[in-house]
Amino acid sequence: MKYVIIGVGVAGMAAIEAIRSLDSSGEIILVGDDPYGFYSRPGLAYFLTGELHDKALFPRNAEDMRKLNFRYLTARVTRILRKDRSVELENQPAVAYDRLLVAVGAQAVPLEVPGADLEGVLKLDHMSDAKHILKHARRGKTAIVVGGGITALELVEGLRAHGVRVHYLLRGDRYWSNVLDEQESRIIERRLQEAGVTLHHRAEVIEIAGRGGRVSGVRLLNGQTLPCDLLAYAIGIRPRLDLAKQAGLALDRGILVNEYLQTNDPDIYAAGDVAQAYDPLSGRSVLDSLWTPARQQGQTAGLNMAGRKTAYIKAPPFNITRLAGLTTTIIGTVGRGRDEDLVGIARGDSETWRQLPDSMVAQTGFDVNRLRLLVGEQTLLGAIVMGDQKLSFPLQKLISGRVDISPIRERLLAPNAEVANIVADFWATRESQFRANLQ
Ligand SMILES: Cc1cc2nc3c(=O)[nH]c(=O)nc-3n(C[C@H](O)[C@H](O)[C@H](O)COP(=O)(O)OP(=O)(O)OC[C@H]3O[C@@H](n4cnc5c(N)ncnc54)[C@H](O)[C@@H]3O)c2cc1C
Repeated sequence: MKYVIIGVGVAGMAAIEAIRSLDSSGEIILVGDDPYGFYSRPGLAYFLTGELHDKALFPRNAEDMRKLNFRYLTARVTRILRKDRSVELENQPAVAYDRLLVAVGAQAVPLEVPGADLEGVLKLDHMSDAKHILKHARRGKTAIVVGGGITALELVEGLRAHGVRVHYLLRGDRYWSNVLDEQESRIIERRLQEAGVTLHHRAEVIEIAGRGGRVSGVRLLNGQTLPCDLLAYAIGIRPRLDLAKQAGLALDRGILVNEYLQTNDPDIYAAGDVAQAYDPLSGRSVLDSLWTPARQQGQTAGLNMAGRKTAYIKAPPFNITRLAGLTTTIIGTVGRGRDEDLVGIARGDSETWRQLPDSMVAQTGFDVNRLRLLVGEQTLLGAIVMGDQKLSFPLQKLISGRVDISPIRERLLAPNAEVANIVADFWATRESQFRANLQ
């Protein structure tokens, strides 16, 4: 059996591990076009701020890779030739496959305004982007950041950490309006301002001005101009669909897969940010840009490719992240609608988060410690935990386990309910069950 994996990301690596767990002799070829190979993309944010050395972003050492016994080709796949069951590579001979995995991830939606090709226009997809940003980030410079979601703030914080003056421009009235509620957005905005960031609401860049091929300022829709040396953007991501489109695979916003991560061609699988998989929580097929689902999908695809039929059961998506320095866990469905700063989803984001059905909100909060629960008829649909993370793990388990919350539902929704205490007490009665299931 000859397995070919396109994409050296977490989905591709997890697939190789799963294949090897079942098939010790089949040939595995991994084709990837990132010169840095496999590293933690979420870790790029901490590399930018200087909290992590780039060496800390590589989760596998040479010995781990050797044990997996696969051939690695640094190359770009230019076409999938389904009739020949092979993939065409740039500047290298084609490679034949019996089973193929497309795990090519997603890329930043480009900023389409005049001047976007100037030196000093920055994005954050790859290690090479992070190194490029660090080359430009110098004390005394001024940067404008546009976009939304987690990556926009990672750009803001990364630039601030190197002494760059930062203006953060939002097209709408508040930060990440279809995931956070008003109070949560304001907490984040206040913290950004306290960190020295200048915020501009209802500000849209329509042109980037340049001098000598470099960014020198921006023009806004309201006619205002702002001088700057750098323009960093994170306005959303899009799955890389070119290969799948050319090969005639079934597509929607991502590559459509069944519960076995199989495309409409039974020998071709897709996993990770590029795949659109069924989500039982929302009853739809959705895109995620999250490390854990990408790993789980890669693993499930690998098992199926090696012959063990295994269904992918998507858990409610969650992310434990940092927003303006504040640890924040987002679980399940928490918002709805459109955010003016993003086209679709961003990095570290899930479409599920904004598919909220009718539900009630239970919330509590003081200063930066805030807890918001989305309460369904019998279960919790989602939660946002900001600051104090004591309830992050219990809520992940209560939501993913679809635990019946009837015993506490009424108390949770009562005026001035002590939501955190009610959840903590309820968890204490359920915790041993979960721990037992883990063993
Ligand atoms: C800055 C940043 C912050 C993030 N923050 C978080 C977070 O807080 N929490 C979280 O859960 N997730 C986060 N993510 C998202 C997470 O990293 C992704 O969901 C995950 O890496 C997706 O893995 P993947 O294997 O599907 O794709 P990727 O990791 O994107 O890997 C795909 C690989 O395929 C390669 N490739 C593409 N086209 C070709 C081709 N034609 N030929 C050969 N190779 C090709 C690409 O170069 C890339 O190396 C973040 C990502 C970034 C970039």
